[in-house]
Amino acid sequence: MNLLPFGKLPAHKPRKFVPEKIDLGDWPQIAPLFDVLEKRAPQIKSVVELESWLLDWSELTAALDEESSRRYIAMTCHTDNADAERAYLHFVEHVEPQLKPRQFALEKIYVAHPVRKKLPQPRFQVFDRDVKNHVELFRPENVALETEEAKLCQQYQKLIGAQTVNFCGGEKTLVQMGRFLEEPDRTLRQEAWELVAKRRLVDAEKCEEIFDALIQLRQRIAKNAGFENYRDFAFRQKCRFDYTPEDCVKFHDAIESEIVPAIRDIQNDRKRQLKLEKLRPWDLAVDPQNRAPLKPFAEVSEMVSRTQKIFNHLDAELAAGFRQMQDLKLLDLDNRKGKAPGGYQDTLNEARLPFIFMNAIGLQRDVETILHEAGHAFHALATRDEDLRSYRNAPIEFCEVASMSMELLGNEFIEEFYATPEANRARKTHLEGIIGFFPWMAVVDAFQHWIYTHAGHTRTERKAAYLQLMDRFGGDVDWSGFEEARASSWHRQLHIFLHPFYYVEYGIAQLGALQVWANSRRDKAKSLNDYKKSLALGGSRPLPELFSAAGCKFQFDAATIKPLIQLAGNELKKF
Ligand SMILES: [Zn+2]
Repeated sequence: MNLLPFGKLPAHKPRKFVPEKIDLGDWPQIAPLFDVLEKRAPQIKSVVELESWLLDWSELTAALDEESSRRYIAMTCHTDNADAERAYLHFVEHVEPQLKPRQFALEKIYVAHPVRKKLPQPRFQVFDRDVKNHVELFRPENVALETEEAKLCQQYQKLIGAQTVNFCGGEKTLVQMGRFLEEPDRTLRQEAWELVAKRRLVDAEKCEEIFDALIQLRQRIAKNAGFENYRDFAFRQKCRFDYTPEDCVKFHDAIESEIVPAIRDIQNDRKRQLKLEKLRPWDLAVDPQNRAPLKPFAEVSEMVSRTQKIFNHLDAELAAGFRQMQDLKLLDLDNRKGKAPGGYQDTLNEARLPFIFMNAIGLQRDVETILHEAGHAFHALATRDEDLRSYRNAPIEFCEVASMSMELLGNEFIEEFYATPEANRARKTHLEGIIGFFPWMAVVDAFQHWIYTHAGHTRTERKAAYLQLMDRFGGDVDWSGFEEARASSWHRQLHIFLHPFYYVEYGIAQLGALQVWANSRRDKAKSLNDYKKSLALGGSRPLPELFSAAGCKFQFDAATIKPLIQLAGNELKKF
């Protein structure tokens, strides 16, 4: 039984190194291929030989990536199928742990290789820089600490995952409670919000304990790797060669001076429409005119055909890409029993084809998601001719430019889903969401800068630092009576616990997306061409070059932000 939505996919290139007949879920069959690569390395004397060794390694990695993706896709499309689960877990438990050290051994061989320095530049600049960095940061004594870190992260996830409340006649998860914040009845909204806030406070002490332990561990990891603090270590570990902590601080300042005033305008507007004296934390998600949610489509097939029409308006090549995904059944979009929650885009790395997974139920959010994930898919399609596996992936700061730009560009034609008043309502909500994201991102990022550069701080000091940031970026929301809930509101931001310093990427990417959108206002054809050209570069160039190919500046200062917020603000006034 084929558990995948798609059938046999056209191979992009015939295999040269990996045998056609091999079970890529069976480690004893895979290991000899790593042996071959290791043994071949010392005999390599020329650049041509080294390049072909790198391509064989790429082919093997891509084949293994695709095997892992296929098992993941089958499992998420059929959570109730025991075979799919077994196959996925087998890969995670019996292949991946063996794979990691073997991949790392090849990286070390590459970095130490005498021919490496002769590889053509700038072709190998990014690859070389990233592999060297990875090898240099590795410390055997950190392996055990990272395992401990993972365990603490799991404890946090368990704690948060177990949080439920009883509301409206039944037990509800806090995620499920989210929809009550969109409820027009203000008393009901407040009741729901208070119940959730109270429930979170029950675990506040435990969250602080886990976090204290995480900070300790992370500081040791950084020290072991020769860094003064974990912030500097995390920047290096994330290959942030093109921006510094100081650039991020400048970004925070620019958000405060350019975006926070825009947030206050949006909040005043909301207050006026809701006829309220003050906005309370439970007044932020409801439609300010108390309208029922938008209904963009009834059937998922309609969502697909209308999205196709949006791309037809936008660009023939992108339209053909989305059409191809439908023909090859690379979309599984409907919400049905036995499917994992959420949405993602994954790439089948050997076929070099994208796949989109969603749980669409007929909300405007689904339209945003399909446009977003299609942007990622276009990125994957654009890099199909790149043979070096790692260059088919861009850094996250630019991946999200591909997807977030597509939301903004696609929204120009959202009349495919709505009459104009509803289309404008969708555009308004979307733009307000973009503007509203920046200040929270600044809080999350600046807070972590503070945490990891103030070693030995107390919980009281940490709380004060957080509240100061909430004052700077929180806008005009009246939290009185809920001071404790406000002071620990960062506990629910899982990135702070699980993925330290991973958040500013979305802010950086959103600035890129807004620039692509602004460019398209001036010259549609050129901006789209630049967008496609930049996507085709994959991860082969450093971030500033990817941004500039897309027609954007790689800068996060007030001068860059100001005109973008002005454009968004003017647009909002139209609605
Ligand atoms: Zn994304």
